[in-house]
Amino acid sequence: MIAPGDEGYAFARSVWNGIIDKHPSAVVRVADEDDIAAVIAYARDHDLPLAVRGGGHGVSGNGTVDRGIVVDLGDLRTVEVDDAQRVRVGGGATLSDVDSATAPQGLAVPLGVVSRTGVGGLTLGGGIGWLTRSYGLSADNLLAADLVTATGDRVRASDTENAELLWGLRGGGGNFGVVTQFTFRAHRLPTELCAVNFIYAEPRWPEAVRAWEEWTRDLPDPMQSIMTFIVPPAELEAGDEPLLLLSAFWSDPDDRATGERLLEDLRRAVPPDAEEAETDWTAWQSAVDVLGRKGLRGYWKNTSFDTLDDAVIEVLLHRAREQRWVGTGIDVHHMGGAFARVPEDATPFPARTSRFWLNVYGAWPDPADDATRTAWVRGFAHEMEPFSSGGLYVNFLGRDEGTDRHEAARAVYGSEKLDRLVALKRRYDPQNIFHLNHNIPVE
Ligand SMILES: Cc1cc2nc3c(=O)[nH]c(=O)nc-3n(C[C@H](O)[C@H](O)[C@H](O)COP(=O)(O)OP(=O)(O)OC[C@H]3O[C@@H](n4cnc5c(N)ncnc54)[C@H](O)[C@@H]3O)c2cc1C
Repeated sequence: MIAPGDEGYAFARSVWNGIIDKHPSAVVRVADEDDIAAVIAYARDHDLPLAVRGGGHGVSGNGTVDRGIVVDLGDLRTVEVDDAQRVRVGGGATLSDVDSATAPQGLAVPLGVVSRTGVGGLTLGGGIGWLTRSYGLSADNLLAADLVTATGDRVRASDTENAELLWGLRGGGGNFGVVTQFTFRAHRLPTELCAVNFIYAEPRWPEAVRAWEEWTRDLPDPMQSIMTFIVPPAELEAGDEPLLLLSAFWSDPDDRATGERLLEDLRRAVPPDAEEAETDWTAWQSAVDVLGRKGLRGYWKNTSFDTLDDAVIEVLLHRAREQRWVGTGIDVHHMGGAFARVPEDATPFPARTSRFWLNVYGAWPDPADDATRTAWVRGFAHEMEPFSSGGLYVNFLGRDEGTDRHEAARAVYGSEKLDRLVALKRRYDPQNIFHLNHNIPVE
């Protein structure tokens, strides 16, 4: 346990988002389920707010708290892969913990795209990455979870035990307990990846975006693509002008030729100013880590949308040209494929049929910029509202103080799913011990 005044307190109280400046009374680095149950009981009995920290990368910064207790799962990081392609992952593991255990066996769990992100928060909110079109969200590949609940009980959620709880964990966040172990389904990876970034300077953006939109209209599931606008950080040695990256990854281990042909179609439609290929999964999974440094000040917003026509392109390009500072980026994820085939009511995750998902990830180092940068992200999201297909992803949302919890949860899940989540919350956490999250209100 680390308390104020102890060596290491400054680090222990910090999370990825540098805006979050909280001073917990104690950060408890738990070793097992008994520790977790003891901390929950202590917080409950002393009426102290309790924060649960997985990888600490929650954009809204709920992994720490003023004058409360943090359950830090950072020592629960074991990863075991079995012969049936099931992967058991400790509740505090990062994406790189999982990738470095599965990749040598030619396998991957669908996770996100920055290796230091925590599996816990990522999965419980959804989990979008390079395998989403191929195999669905991280949450869709969650086979089971072991939890310690608000009463300290050990509960397993799977298709055969507490199936409704498993439903809730596939997008309902950390509302129902502390997950000590996730069990995922893994998938075979190509031995040599077919992955590439096509890079375009600003004058080429309109033709590149139009060509990408056309290219995405008819792609098989194994082709995943993300369109990114960034001002490259110095480490990438790519100059200081804003760039557009059309990044693509082909996942089918048995048919590399089709992936190469599809990439060649895009290359020919809009020849890049430069390109970079990657053949190794763990390198590809950490290629953009440099964009998500811990300690940057962050505020994110997201929108799902279906049509990438001239009106949307105008908003995107206007905002991308305006954004000249290092840190902030704009991603458009191409959705569809296996993600879209999961029935809407099979998980709490919203808007399965949306063709694209925009993530505006505001990040900057200087506190003096907090107000203007936050306003810029909000303004961008506001301009996208008319095009929205109704989906909000909790993991791509920054902290908005003073928002009504009911309204916020309804905006994400819609009334029907929210009713189901509220019923689960009443069953597993009626006192709302786990309230530092995208909260499902009980009352
Ligand atoms: C740099 C960066 C890159 C990102 N890239 C992606 C991406 O590619 N795809 C994507 O989908 N998302 C991405 N995200 C968003 C990410 O999924 C969320 O921020 C997520 O909450 C991070 O999880 P964490 O465990 O690291 O965070 P934490 O702050 O530790 O946890 C967030 C919340 O999750 C809950 N929680 C975490 N672990 C547990 C557990 N074991 N049991 C119970 N509750 C738990 C808690 O309520 C906690 O408040 C990224 C975020 C950052 C900062």
